[in-house]
Parts: sequence; C-alpha cells; structure tokens
Amino acid sequence: MTLRLNAYAKINLFLDVTGRRADGYHDILSLMQAVDLCDTVTLNVTEELPPTISVRCDRAEIPPDQKNLAYRAAEAFYSAYGVWKRTEIEIEKRIPVSAGLAGGSTDAAAVLVGLNRLMGFPFSEEELCGIGKRLGADIPFCIWGGSAEVRGIGERILRVPEPDPPLWMVIAKKGEGVSTPGAYGALDKLFDSFRGEFSGGTVPETRYTALLSALREGNLLQIGASLYNVFERVVLPMHSEASALRSAMMEYGANAALMSGSGPSVIGLFASEEQANAAKDGLNRQANETVAFVARTKGKNYDRI
Ligand code: ATP
Repeated sequence: MTLRLNAYAKINLFLDVTGRRADGYHDILSLMQAVDLCDTVTLNVTEELPPTISVRCDRAEIPPDQKNLAYRAAEAFYSAYGVWKRTEIEIEKRIPVSAGLAGGSTDAAAVLVGLNRLMGFPFSEEELCGIGKRLGADIPFCIWGGSAEVRGIGERILRVPEPDPPLWMVIAKKGEGVSTPGAYGALDKLFDSFRGEFSGGTVPETRYTALLSALREGNLLQIGASLYNVFERVVLPMHSEASALRSAMMEYGANAALMSGSGPSVIGLFASEEQANAAKDGLNRQANETVAFVARTKGKNYDRI
C-alpha cells in the first residue's frame, strides 16, 4: 500500500510566551497557520517481514534514521496500534530546515495521519494528537492544519476561522538555522532580567484579539499592526541575516513582516500574488544564499496526491 501526502509548513502569526512551568516548559499563546509550502511524504507499507521502518530523504542534512521525527512517528504509531508493518518513508524536502517552520513536526504529523488512513482509521484525530504531542509540541497542530489558537505547551488547540481570502506571503530564510531550545534559553535569560515581573505574556492579549478581528475582516494594515513574535526580541539582534530579510520584505512592499517560530525564517505579507512573486524573485536574485518562496495560507486537511 502506498500513500503520498503533502506535509504543510506552519507559520506563527502571533507567538507569545505566557508562562514558565516548574519543569522548564513554556506556556505559549500562538496563532498557528498552515501554509501551502510543503514537503511530500510517501509511505510504502507492506506485509514483508521483519516489519522494519526506514526513512529516505533527498536532503543530506536530514537524518535518515531513528533521529528523524518521521521515523519516530511511525514507531509511536505502531506501538500504540500494537501491530507492526514494514514501512518505508520517503521525504521530498522543500521546507527549510531549522527555520521555525515545523518541517520535522509536519513530516511526523503526515506519517501519523497517513498510517492511520492506511490502517483503516484505528485512531481518532484527538488520539493521533495524543500520540504526536509526546514527540513534539508542534505535532498536534500539524495534524490539525488550517488556522488554530494554540495554548499550553502546544496541546490546547482551538480552531479559529481561516483567513478568507487566503493571505499571500513570501517565506524566506538566510543564514544559519536556529535551535528552538537555544532560542527558549535566550528568552529565559530575558525573562530573568524582568525579575519576576513576567506573567501572563510579554504583550497584552488584546493585541492577539485585535489580530483575530483583523484576519476576520481581511484588514491587511490592521493585521500588520497586530502580528507579534516574542522570539524576535532575542533572535533578531544576533541573527543579522534574519534582521536584514525582515527589512528587505518591507522594502519590497510587504504590508508586514515577521519572523516565524524561533526563526530565522521571515514571512512578509503581500496584498497580491504578483507583489509576492516580485518580492520573491528580488530576494532570490540577491545571490546570497537566500531561499525565498511564495506561499498562501492553507485550509485544513492533508491532500492525498
Ligand atoms: P520548529 O518550528 O517545530 O521548532 P524547525 O522548523 O525550527 O522546527 P526542523 O526543520 O523541524 O526545525 O528541524 C529541527 C531539527 O530536527 C534539525 O536538526 C533536523 O536535523 C531534525 N529533524 C529530524 N527529522 C526531521 C525531518 N523529518 N525534517 C526536518 N528536520 C528533521
């Protein structure tokens, strides 16, 4: 049995840390959004013995073994299912790696969704999220897709209306990737400097509700004024390429630009596909290792292709 699925990247239109837990985890408030920039994950499942799991990926920097989140997702799926099948996972990578776009998490989510489909839906979506969240905090959202308000450490997900019409954007990355734990470590140092005054988030939650209203109304100016990512405070000062990309997006006419997740990828929102394409071509022409893509917000569901 073979199944090919698109695994969509995630961006954060809003991301704040609202608390720190005793166990070191951080509570967040985020508006996560799937976009149509995607990897393609092919699952080939057979009855051959032994029931091994293998991963192939067209990018050398992605581990093709147990370290791959897609491998660990298959392992977790079969542990919960109780019956193991020989499974070959092939990943065609387009999502930039270590970029704050949840590339690994979305591949893992596609494996969980795909195996569930191939096995005849033994698990509900909620149960799949339960399996996924033990592997990575962004996996439940990647299973959900579409647009969602995410709280807690990523496990409290509430569907919100999808931007209508979809938003056009350019997603670009330049320079070294950012490690998510490293970025949280830098944030912790910032919070320590607040000397206990930090509670309930670094900006008022009204900024988040303003963003939701602006998205509902399709008001690009108001969307631009309400986007927020707390990680910009610690990542942009030390990542000159991300900082320059953010400025370049605005120079190319973006209505707003923001780093996604813990960076360093930057998204620029544009009023039209033409403007987004012109900005993408301009950024890619800079011949300085910038990779830029045009993307659009994506509604729920994995496409079988
Ligand atoms: P997030 O936004 O969820 O923090 P990210 O986009 O910053 O994630 P990823 O692209 O998921 O980061 O990669 C982070 C690390 O995970 C890299 O070191 C990479 O080698 C490893 N990794 C394991 N499996 C995968 C996969 N299937 N795709 C990409 N990276 C993977």
